[in-house]
Amino acid sequence: MVRRFAWVWTIVGFGVGLLLGYDWSGQGVRFEPTVVTIATLAGVFVSVIVSVWPEVRQPPLVPCPSCGRPRHPDAVLCPHCGAAK
Ligand SMILES: [Zn+2]
Repeated sequence: MVRRFAWVWTIVGFGVGLLLGYDWSGQGVRFEPTVVTIATLAGVFVSVIVSVWPEVRQPPLVPCPSCGRPRHPDAVLCPHCGAAK
């Protein structure tokens, strides 16, 4: 669910860049392109982290050799039948 909306952070970064790069004192609408670019790239960076992170934290479950039900690959004991690794 979180990964599906990872691209939103790119938009957020772009939006933050517009806010930070906007020249509030100047006349007319003016943006600092460098600030907008850096903030957008930061947003892209966060998007990549968010899209990769859950996969790192939650490795795919493997079937238990004893009962066949899905269990964490690093689990010492099976949460279903209690069989050791
Ligand atoms: Zn089991």
